[in-house]
Amino acid sequence: MTKGNINVSVENIFPLIKKFLYSDHEIFLRELISNATDATSKLNHLSNIGEAKTELGSIEIEVKIDKENKKLHIIDRGVGMTAEEVEKYINQVAFSGAEEFLEKYKDSAKDSGIIGHFGLGFYSAFMVAKEVEILTKSYKEDSVAVRWVCDGSPEFTLEDYPEKTTRGTEIILHIAEDSTEFLEEYRIRELLTKYNKFMPVPIKFGTKTE
Ligand code: ADP
Ligand code: MG
Repeated sequence: MTKGNINVSVENIFPLIKKFLYSDHEIFLRELISNATDATSKLNHLSNIGEAKTELGSIEIEVKIDKENKKLHIIDRGVGMTAEEVEKYINQVAFSGAEEFLEKYKDSAKDSGIIGHFGLGFYSAFMVAKEVEILTKSYKEDSVAVRWVCDGSPEFTLEDYPEKTTRGTEIILHIAEDSTEFLEEYRIRELLTKYNKFMPVPIKFGTKTE
């Protein structure tokens, strides 16, 4: 297991993000689904040019509510990430984006359009979640799955997670007390309709029962 601090100079950035974008909490789902879609499109492309040797299989994106445990899962069968890629794309990049964002928009900005442009996309998950897990396995041959967990402080943990044997990424949001609306089926359905009607990858949505 690796323990570390996400590369950020602002102590505990998440409450700030939350405050700045207060009215736009719901966009987290659009951001996460767009990442899942990107990952799926990348895999499709790599497969077409012969770079990805894996069986494509079903490439559906799945959104699952686990109401009992207050979790929302967004699962894709896209390219996934290696441990190195999680380090690079989640731990490093996103926060340089966050800093830039905060600097530029500290006095204004409620425009939800700007969030994606600064690599804050993934971190918008913390507007509704008190803890976020990433379980991910790269399409690359012999890659071992990893699990990243962050509770909204700049600290994260990253460890091998051989329990995940399927290619792709599962984002698990432990929904915060003030955001339980996102555990309601009608609410998620509404957002999926609103944001993802024209997405190129099919989305499966149903309440998790087990
Ligand atoms: P952006 O999508 O604008 O690059 P994000 O913060 O949304 O910024 O995501 C950061 C990076 O993390 C992505 O560019 C991608 O490399 C990686 N990533 C995020 N979600 C996934 C996913 N579901 N599958 C694979 N990689 C992902
Ligand atoms: Mg994104």
